[in-house]
Amino acid sequence: KAALRADDTLAHLGGDSFALLLTDIDAAQGCPALLDRVQAAIATPLTVAGSQLHATASIRVSLYPKDNADGDTLLRHADQAMFLAKEAGKNRYHLFDPESDRKAQCQRRQLERLRLALARGEFVLHYQPKVDLGDGRVIGVEALIRWQDPERGLLAPGAFLPYIEAVEAMERALGDWVLASALAQLEQWLHAGLQFSVSVNISAHQLMHADFVDDLQRLLERHPQVPRERLELEILETAALTDLPRAIAVMQRCAALVVRFALDDFGTGYSSLTYLRKLPVDTLKIDQSFVRDMLVDPDDRAIVDGVIRLAAAFNRHVIAEGVETIEHGLALQRLGCRLAQGYGIARPMPAEQLPAWLRDWQ
Ligand code: C2E
Ligand code: MG
Ligand code: MG
Repeated sequence: KAALRADDTLAHLGGDSFALLLTDIDAAQGCPALLDRVQAAIATPLTVAGSQLHATASIRVSLYPKDNADGDTLLRHADQAMFLAKEAGKNRYHLFDPESDRKAQCQRRQLERLRLALARGEFVLHYQPKVDLGDGRVIGVEALIRWQDPERGLLAPGAFLPYIEAVEAMERALGDWVLASALAQLEQWLHAGLQFSVSVNISAHQLMHADFVDDLQRLLERHPQVPRERLELEILETAALTDLPRAIAVMQRCAALVVRFALDDFGTGYSSLTYLRKLPVDTLKIDQSFVRDMLVDPDDRAIVDGVIRLAAAFNRHVIAEGVETIEHGLALQRLGCRLAQGYGIARPMPAEQLPAWLRDWQ
């Protein structure tokens, strides 16, 4: 109360929440100064029964007439998005902004829904074959996540991964689930006599997390039957480049576990040749944007050609993604790329459809 002015109102709403009603303030200048004073007052240590107590507060601010609402709604607005102030850390205040509030609420609802989806087992992996165009051999499959939303049906990763990737803990939880599921599936296929490898997409955060390699090792130990070279991790070229020394260190530790790496979406991240030499990757995966137009766009064709030669020069494998037609496949083969993946060969499919596809594949 000592930090407030005579006309201001301080009310105890219940529990640990209080409301301040401040009148006649100039939003631009007066408000922050007053709030700083309030924060400072709250932060002053209290001595109670001989012990020092420290309190902090998260403050959410709603302004009238900017947030044009009645008294109850003003209070609700201030209260509703309190989590924003709390997220930003204690001892902060946050101005209510209807637009960002709407977005934040939408994002929060989405995240809650996705958390539930993970708990309920609504995520599934589909698998897309990778083949050798030279002899038709199926060399492996790539695991691609889908969300089987009971309301909206099967959703592609573009519809939900961006939300998940914004929250590191969730990204890790989902990443762990993907790796564990893909390995369990691979083990099942190996038992059934299907001899191929499984590729799993790993996000940058996931790869760079301090526990990644140890977790991976523990997971592999739970599947002693699976030859480790049958697991391939796909890392976005751009992800590897964000912290190259770190990426190299992590990938080398994984390579010691005999796990292999592919650089995904290759060509979109401007790897320098020095980097490429240092990264312990087995395979360059030509980004589908170049493959798609290679038949009509000489520049894209030149890039595809260039990546294929680069891979040969550095003694790496090369695979093309987004191979949609036979013509694409033939053109790639002529340029020296035998490995391919794309709708022209097969769309990603549920694991149980794969044996039938393999029987029919010519
Ligand atoms: P990506 O790893 O580059 O996967 C290839 C994407 O291209 C997949 O899209 C696949 O369905 C699609 N695709 C395959 N063949 C063709 C084709 O011939 N034409 C066209 N137009 N598209 C084709 P999807 O499944 O929507 O996945 C998108 C991206 O989401 C993936 O790109 C990958 O970066 C990410 N992603 C998927 N699953 C996971 C996952 O489990 N973990 C992480 N971290 N990321 C994932
Ligand atoms: Mg991939
Ligand atoms: Mg890709």
